[in-house]
Amino acid sequence: MMFIDPHTHMISRTTDDYEAMAAAGVVAVIEPAFWIGQPRTNVGSYIDYLSHIVGFERFRAGQFGIRHYCTIGLNSKEANNEALAEEVMEILPRFALKEGVVAIGEIGYDEQSDLEDKYFRLQLELAKELDLPVMIHTPHRDKKRGTSRSMDVCEEHGLPPSKVVIDHNNEETVQETLERGFWAAFSIYPSTKMGNARMVEILRQYGAERIIVDSACDWGISEPLGVAKTAKLALERGIPEEQVRLACYQNALDAYGQSGQIKEDDWLNPPAIDQRTLYEGNSILRGGREPKIEEAKIKRSMDELIIE
Ligand SMILES: [Zn+2]
Repeated sequence: MMFIDPHTHMISRTTDDYEAMAAAGVVAVIEPAFWIGQPRTNVGSYIDYLSHIVGFERFRAGQFGIRHYCTIGLNSKEANNEALAEEVMEILPRFALKEGVVAIGEIGYDEQSDLEDKYFRLQLELAKELDLPVMIHTPHRDKKRGTSRSMDVCEEHGLPPSKVVIDHNNEETVQETLERGFWAAFSIYPSTKMGNARMVEILRQYGAERIIVDSACDWGISEPLGVAKTAKLALERGIPEEQVRLACYQNALDAYGQSGQIKEDDWLNPPAIDQRTLYEGNSILRGGREPKIEEAKIKRSMDELIIE
């Protein structure tokens, strides 16, 4: 079975993760622009970061057999630095139009401040203007209200729900997200957002229409095999294979495929891996390493299936 993980921060992950994901069946990942764990001090670091996720990271993933896409946006935390936010808004359009950019995101609310609201709305307008889907990050605190409000604002700006993915849903928010016609994504993120046994119960209760599973793996304690493990657990626990395929593959492709920048042919007929390939003069090889793909020892394994 093939999987797409439509929310991964691969710049924080190692090549072991790419190898383990590919071995578990992940064919493509989407890397949303996000908060790097400390505030950026100027627009230059934003420019380098966005160049990295549309450039070198896409190349690096390809060298390990995974197709890489990204979303472009100003995250909600940094929307609270108005001087920076203004400058970032200026540069977003030129990154949003690059190859492999499948949405504006992840945008939305963190503390639900006025500045977050301002830049969320401006970026919804940008998505409309560029005719791109939107990936919404919903807040950890006051999630239910923040999720409803995110959808209200999308509607106010005239975005069709079919072009908006509401991420980080849970049992409290899923029903409203689905009833209002949005895509409902779930991040299988240990300890905080969702475990995969809970995810299986959501699939049992709601089916898989417009439901998307992702790992949101990043620099925190997270699980790049979140999608593959959830799929395996769901099958083991009796969820029909077609529903698993929708939630762990097809729905993400349909939602982000509306950008015209991600299609099945990308991984069904991929370019051959040649680790001698250079990206702006540099390869992924370090210190005279032999340029080949070995059956590398997988450091992460699929043996421990439950994520709590
Ligand atoms: Zn994220």
